[in-house]
Amino acid sequence: MSEPPVAQPPRSPPPPPARAGARLSPGGQAWAGLPTKVCGGCIRCCELNPVAEIGVRPFAGCPHRRAAPAAHPGCGIYPNRPDSCRSWSCLWLRNEEWPAELRPDHCGVVFDQNPDVLTINGKEVSCIQAWVAPGF
Ligand code: SF4
Ligand code: SF4
Repeated sequence: MSEPPVAQPPRSPPPPPARAGARLSPGGQAWAGLPTKVCGGCIRCCELNPVAEIGVRPFAGCPHRRAAPAAHPGCGIYPNRPDSCRSWSCLWLRNEEWPAELRPDHCGVVFDQNPDVLTINGKEVSCIQAWVAPGF
């Protein structure tokens, strides 16, 4: 007897051209224009980021993560992953100069590509957001 079908979220449309270079992983696919950069088995950002489309809250950890060594890709719904996953990447993925040991699953730190703004003593200051995994 065949297995019952498993419900899947609707397939997301391909990202528009302006976001064509957006996050292509976790799945071992290359960043557009940066062929040497792949997420491989890293799923650090999937432990942190909210994914509104599937009800994942910040720092809750996405239930679709897959653990290494099976994590190639690390996303269990990679072909149908939500747009917010497709459009986000860490700074390591975007910078070819950053060495392999700084991949977030290796170094324990995820640097957000999106700068934030803090107000310090009444002045707005741009800053880089970084998350450090427990134990690092
Ligand atoms: S933290 Fe960076 S390298 Fe790791 S899965 Fe997310 S985008 Fe890829
Ligand atoms: S859906 Fe996939 S890419 Fe998105 S947070 Fe979950 S595991 Fe990561």
